[in-house]
Amino acid sequence: MRPLTAHIDLNALRHNYLQARRYAPEARAMAVLKANAYGHGAIACAQALQDLAPAMAVACLEEGQALRARGIECPIVLLEGFFEADELDEVITGGYWSVLHTHWQVDALLTRLARWPQHRMTVLVKCDSGMHRLGFAPEEVGDLCGRLQAHAGIEQTLLMTHFATADTPDSPLLTAQLETINALRCLLDLPGCFANSPATLGVPASRHDWVRPGVMLYGVNPLEPQHALHDEIEQILRPVMTLESRIIAVRELQSGEPIGYGARHVTHRPTRVGVVACGYGDGYDRHAREGTPVLVEGKRAAIAGRVSMDMLTVDITELPEAGIGSRVTLWGRDASGSELSVSEVASWCDTIAYTLLTGILPRVPRCYH
Ligand code: PLP
Repeated sequence: MRPLTAHIDLNALRHNYLQARRYAPEARAMAVLKANAYGHGAIACAQALQDLAPAMAVACLEEGQALRARGIECPIVLLEGFFEADELDEVITGGYWSVLHTHWQVDALLTRLARWPQHRMTVLVKCDSGMHRLGFAPEEVGDLCGRLQAHAGIEQTLLMTHFATADTPDSPLLTAQLETINALRCLLDLPGCFANSPATLGVPASRHDWVRPGVMLYGVNPLEPQHALHDEIEQILRPVMTLESRIIAVRELQSGEPIGYGARHVTHRPTRVGVVACGYGDGYDRHAREGTPVLVEGKRAAIAGRVSMDMLTVDITELPEAGIGSRVTLWGRDASGSELSVSEVASWCDTIAYTLLTGILPRVPRCYH
């Protein structure tokens, strides 16, 4: 078998979920499992969390159906709601909680509920408190919630919003969003659902009454390095995905020789190059710059030359013991306990950990521990 595996540590996932609960003890925590649980495998992650999480959240009905088909029974929140009215029979009868962010969704849902007098639904009314992506203007929310609460088919109405800058300390936008949403929450006397991972960990005023942690469940520190809690969280979260491959060939090059496509890297000394079975065809980011770190048998080495479709090349000159078969950790925690965070790799690719994790393609087998 091609030696490339995404090892998924389900105990670490549970540990990280419990950290969300520890930081937000006053709230209930739904586990965000959208985009195939940020690339980790939604079914396995949902099964690992089902005795802990009172609800789970996905982007859309198809993602929810995949979980239902494998026996997940808790409420499943549809974070983007539904896209077509013909999804509604299933949304209403399938135990989903739908986000509502446009007027047509409200109208379509209330009309369709008449078909299902024995079913009552929970909805989350999304307020655009300042991110300006999805949601109703704050001044519309009161009337809408009143309309929903008055309907016999609506069991529970939650107030929802999403923060644009919860990871950044002293953000004026976050302060403004919190003021808007908490004023509405008090005025309407409704339960809320506001906090993503950084807010769950670092913004106490956002923890009403549900929190919605995503990326922190997978062991990614969601706080900016200058945030006061950043280092503490770094110690607490455990990486869930370890992307591991092996060296499949070694080249001994002289000084002045090129490596890989475009001959972008030219050696400036005699160099040993390890060829690793992982490339952009697996979802590893082709933008990884020269010097992007990997771990070879737990020791740091750096990418030299461009990432190609099925392989990447690493300078192992300083690691004479490394050779064909040596274990290479692209990110995560290896068997010896050495760690390379996906966030550090992401910074070398000018991106964020979310894109690297969600970008790992089905071609890469997930192995659950
Ligand atoms: N809630 C919504 C609406 C989201 O879109 C997301 C993620 O993008 C989350 C919660 C979870 O955010 P995070 O992964 O930053 O915790």
